[in-house]
Amino acid sequence: MAIVIAIDGPAGAGKSTIARRVAGRLGFTYIDSGAMYRAVALWALREKLDPADAHRMEQLALAAAITLEGDGVVLNGEDVSDAIRAPEVSRAASQVATIAGVRRALVEKQRVIGAARNVVMEGRDIGSVVFPQADVKIFLDAESGERARRRAAEVNGDHDAIARQMRERDERDRERAESPLTQAPDAVYLDSTGLSVEEVEEAILKLVRARITNGKEFR
Ligand code: C5P
Repeated sequence: MAIVIAIDGPAGAGKSTIARRVAGRLGFTYIDSGAMYRAVALWALREKLDPADAHRMEQLALAAAITLEGDGVVLNGEDVSDAIRAPEVSRAASQVATIAGVRRALVEKQRVIGAARNVVMEGRDIGSVVFPQADVKIFLDAESGERARRRAAEVNGDHDAIARQMRERDERDRERAESPLTQAPDAVYLDSTGLSVEEVEEAILKLVRARITNGKEFR
């Protein structure tokens, strides 16, 4: 069985940056599960479909050929790595992510990936739903003001608008009925407010080293 390191948390907590670095340090594959919800949302927007249409969205999620290669995201043969980062896609992604059938389809794809190789997978429900048996579970958080500042700096956008969109998306992620964003009981809570990327990375690597000992070899 491959090793799974699950990193969950709200938008802007630093999950992608940290998960990518930790995967690099361990020689594991980095998987951005949010990119899959974004890919389905992008497809829906392009087809002018309503991201709240549960039946149509489930069909798209089942039909979508999504591959994650490094930082690249390919949807039905097209590189959509940049397109899925547009603000309207973020919003639509959090809408399609409320639909049970969409989640079932994408969770299945995520489990297939995680069964085949050692992964650092980030998202909202990786430790709670996708891999309840993950070897290491982190709930990465930061104060909302800092999360908005980081995201605004990252995308070079208007701080207030970004803060507003992030709040809306987080609320939807926390309050939905299906797999809401929540800390798994056995996840380690890590508040990255005021910490550098290196500090957060080291804290997680320390946990990984403590949890994964001789029983499981790194492949
Ligand atoms: O991680 P990212 O912000 O790119 O995810 C986009 C959206 O996809 C989130 O706001 C959330 O609604 C959804 N998502 C999810 N479960 C995951 C990953 C992402 O519901 N495991």
